[in-house]
Amino acid sequence: MLKLGAIADDFTGATDLANNLVRAGMRVVQTIGVPTEPLATQADAVVVALKSRTIEPWAAVEQSLKALEWLQGQGARQIYFKYCSTFDSTERGNIGPITEALMDALGTDFTIATPAFPDNKRTVFKGYLFVGDVLLNESGMQHHPLTPMTDPNLVRVLQRQTRRKVGLIDHSVVARGAEAVRERIAILRAEGVNIAVVDALSNEDLIGIGAALNNLPLVTAGSGLAIGMPANFGIKPSSRASELPLAEGLQAVVSGSCSLATNRQVLAFIKTGRPAMAIDPLRIASGFDVSSEVLAWAEPLMADGPVLVYSTAESDAIQAVQSRLGVEKAGAMVERTIAAIARGLVQRGVRQLVVAGGETSGACVHELGVTQMRIGPQIDPGVPWTHVQAEAAEGKGVHMALKSGNFGTDDFFTKAFQLLER
Ligand code: ADP
Repeated sequence: MLKLGAIADDFTGATDLANNLVRAGMRVVQTIGVPTEPLATQADAVVVALKSRTIEPWAAVEQSLKALEWLQGQGARQIYFKYCSTFDSTERGNIGPITEALMDALGTDFTIATPAFPDNKRTVFKGYLFVGDVLLNESGMQHHPLTPMTDPNLVRVLQRQTRRKVGLIDHSVVARGAEAVRERIAILRAEGVNIAVVDALSNEDLIGIGAALNNLPLVTAGSGLAIGMPANFGIKPSSRASELPLAEGLQAVVSGSCSLATNRQVLAFIKTGRPAMAIDPLRIASGFDVSSEVLAWAEPLMADGPVLVYSTAESDAIQAVQSRLGVEKAGAMVERTIAAIARGLVQRGVRQLVVAGGETSGACVHELGVTQMRIGPQIDPGVPWTHVQAEAAEGKGVHMALKSGNFGTDDFFTKAFQLLER
């Protein structure tokens, strides 16, 4: 029976939360959007990945309520609304409106809010959010194109987004442990506070806070709080949580990420001597059938080990392509081509697939017809192996690793497959 049901406001954030829950001992499935079918395998927690961070508040509420309904249908005993550890939102939302709607639907008058994630240097003190050593509004986030964060005081930020009364559980309480937090919650409730921002400076703080939340129908947080929740269900960290079916089949990497780390990873893979083929966006634009060419190249090589297909390039080359084709057109075209190649590779027997690039991953998952992913062992921080049923594999299992942007060490593309061998 499902224990924790999570609703995440974006895809990579959902993976981040799922990964933290697995490391805390839960068996976790991540879904892409709200599924239309029941859960495919057993899990302690499900993370529904939405794209609700910057859409209209009413649409974000609608999606979140649909996710809630599905999770309740699967038996979820507690709901975790997950947002970014920099509290990414606008004056209108969407953290406040989603929280409020979930509280109404769950019939609860109290929840907490904490984006704290000390492992990633996000801490909250007296309601103020710090990123590393500086306040949120000095961290660069004040210039974010979609969600500029100009006020570091989360009580004020959240109060502007909701009619519910927002309060604070400060660090002097948190430092005294779970019982003190529980007592403080009772006092705030009696005072009419509905949402309490909670300070946290360390993992120890988050574990204490988590223990105090066992009776709340809803918690709202970044992915950090995940380490404090599984114990409430009697779950301890265990390597069994990340066990996946045995890996088989052919191995491939497709990369549409142009981030610095990915450029280094592509070079490192080429240096190993394994086959690698670059895709030229201008050839795609000229109408040439690049995906058939790549698949014909890859087919005879894959029996000996992994191959790499990449559009990854350095900034000068990308700018040249973008000025010829336009930024969006170039991006969408390359994403479509890589997704078609990923599909062709799976149809040719690839069952271990690494995808580099956040948007590229979204395109591949969609093209392969993946809706649910079991989260497995972590390859590098934030990037786990997953196991999926891909429509493109005629419903057979495929191991997939989705690596966004700057994640992973230079040897990621070889290290990933070695981890599956073990
Ligand atoms: P990351 O996670 O590194 O940001 P994404 O996949 O999210 O990677 O974004 C990279 C974007 O750049 C995608 O839209 C992709 O199609 C596009 N792209 C990839 N290679 C090239 C290239 N050589 N020229 C222009 N655009 C490219």
